Amino acid sequence: MTTKKYHYLFGPVPSRRLGRSLGVDIIPLKTCTQNCIYCQLGKDAPQTLQRKNYVPIKAVLSELEQKINESLEADFITISGSGEPTLHSQLGELIDRIHKMTDIPVAVITNSTLLFDRSVQQDCCKADVVLPSLDAGDSETFKKMNHPHPDLDFDQFTEGLIRFRAEYTGQLWLEVFFCEGINTDSTSVRNIAEQIRRINPDKMQINTSVRPIVHAEAARVSEQRLNEIAARLGESVEVITDFSKHTTTTGKQADLQVILETLQRRPCTLDDLCAGLGLSKKQLQPALVKLDALSKITGETINQKFYYKAV
Ligand code: SF4
Repeated sequence: MTTKKYHYLFGPVPSRRLGRSLGVDIIPLKTCTQNCIYCQLGKDAPQTLQRKNYVPIKAVLSELEQKINESLEADFITISGSGEPTLHSQLGELIDRIHKMTDIPVAVITNSTLLFDRSVQQDCCKADVVLPSLDAGDSETFKKMNHPHPDLDFDQFTEGLIRFRAEYTGQLWLEVFFCEGINTDSTSVRNIAEQIRRINPDKMQINTSVRPIVHAEAARVSEQRLNEIAARLGESVEVITDFSKHTTTTGKQADLQVILETLQRRPCTLDDLCAGLGLSKKQLQPALVKLDALSKITGETINQKFYYKAV
């Protein structure tokens, strides 16, 4: 039996938004304030608003130190992963200590729901880039898309984002995720555009489901439709496309455990794996065959692309 080398780190994995991103996971699987219909982590988990010390940051930092000593090459160290990272009560301290260890910039991916909380705002202010989400411009669509904790209020949520933007001096890259038939009608898009205007992010990115997800209602938006929505939301809105850069061919051997850990976080195409792990297809394919023979991975074709998944 293989022993998992890292419990809190994954990758570097290819990120459509951040290039090569070393993921830092500080929250147990699917521990979140919401239960979005497009979530890749499963469905029907209970939501929570409790901030606490979910995992010991000392152990996270010790893994990170080891990873950096192994000549880590990454564009970002990204605090994200298996749930909502702002639920961790030592997020700010963790970011401070990462900054002391490396010059690699720190990003935080958040669903934004706790940004109304002063302590969460202060923690996130320490990151170099914050990537918040906002998938709705009104309370009804917020509930349909994100299934928030019952104590979360849409106005409090958006006001929190606006206040955070006013205070934060780093880069704020806002993402809106679209699901056909849920937030793509003209009223929903208009309401979202109004919230974007109020938030005033540095970068605006929109997305839809190109990877396997569990909720049938999270229907993918066509590329043409997504481009139309982008045009309605503003001139500089970026439609996030598949990651296709940074592929390198090195003499490295494919590490089965690293591949498996990457696929445990999210399904990937062969190109995704090549880009994230810095390996060629020729190097990766025998490892994937081996993992398949061990019944550790499986696969699925979505939108004409084949995705590998951990079993
Ligand atoms: S915010 Fe992220 S982790 Fe939480 S339910 Fe939505 S997609 Fe899943």
